[in-house]
Amino acid sequence: MKINDIIRSKPITLSFEVFPPKTDDRYDTVAQAVSALSSLAPDYMSVTYGAGGGTSKNTVRIATDIEKVHHTTALAHLTCLSSTKQDIQSILGELKENGIHNVLALRGDQPKPDSGAPIPHDYRYAVELVNDIRAFGDFCIGAACHPEGHPDRNGLQEEIIHLREKVDRGVDFLVTQFFFDNQKFYDYIDRLRGAGINVPIIVGVMPVTSVQSLERMIAISGTSVTPRMQTLLSRWGDDPDSMAQAGVLHASEQILDLVSNGFGGIHIYTMNKPLIASAIRNNVGFLLG
Ligand SMILES: Cc1cc2nc3c(=O)[nH]c(=O)nc-3n(C[C@H](O)[C@H](O)[C@H](O)COP(=O)(O)OP(=O)(O)OC[C@H]3O[C@@H](n4cnc5c(N)ncnc54)[C@H](O)[C@@H]3O)c2cc1C
Repeated sequence: MKINDIIRSKPITLSFEVFPPKTDDRYDTVAQAVSALSSLAPDYMSVTYGAGGGTSKNTVRIATDIEKVHHTTALAHLTCLSSTKQDIQSILGELKENGIHNVLALRGDQPKPDSGAPIPHDYRYAVELVNDIRAFGDFCIGAACHPEGHPDRNGLQEEIIHLREKVDRGVDFLVTQFFFDNQKFYDYIDRLRGAGINVPIIVGVMPVTSVQSLERMIAISGTSVTPRMQTLLSRWGDDPDSMAQAGVLHASEQILDLVSNGFGGIHIYTMNKPLIASAIRNNVGFLLG
């Protein structure tokens, strides 16, 4: 099913993000997590994409399992910065062959200068990927947006201009980077609507369960840590069980606030942890009707 049809048919949706294994020997572990997550009956599940051989192949494989084994709608992420036009055509062909109708069109992060990873220069920005997916035909296309600004730091004003260009090329919905301060998100949405960006916005919510993983993600996302989140991290960061519970409660409260302010598309960055997703679902399930 196409995600824009799901969004149109339900005022509130709950979806999950998973990431594929980097190596084939981890495949079964990830497949088990995906199976447990799909048993929580999300409206759809997205699968992240890591440029390069094994990981990109596993994105298609996991997304196919989600559709064919778990009978759940899949959203395959796809990045373009490290890909050639030919790579993209071939992956889109595989997705189509496997019955996947939804793609999240992303630029991808710049490889570190010392990583030695080649950059083919076929793509510079996600908007060019949106063009190619639209031309390929018949995909529902999502794209990313960054309520606190993208770490490239062009300034929010300029970013919103580029976001409008991306949406105008045929984006059906946007998914946000995670954030902890809902008010910043509400202010951002006002600016998007003011700039004529009217597609549905799916809100990415991150349950923070460990200091280490948060530090890594903060560095690449540009998300700021609120004083409230900082207190949780300082007080319970060394106690994994308490931190996980605090992270679940924080995410659940964030969702309650979002839904009560009229934002019904909730996407949980599950980090492949079914117990965390299940605890959040237990807290907010009543909102789903
Ligand atoms: C919901 C979500 C899911 C993600 N999933 C993945 C994943 O699976 N795999 C992965 O590797 N990464 C993923 N990322 C990270 C993402 O790839 C990075 O944030 C990346 O740096 C930017 O991607 P984008 O698609 O927003 O890029 P773009 O839309 O290309 O924007 C990137 C920057 O370029 C600027 N820009 C855009 N167009 C122009 C232009 N014409 N001229 C000048 N500047 C321009 C924008 O304002 C912005 O600052 C995800 C991010 C989000 C929010």
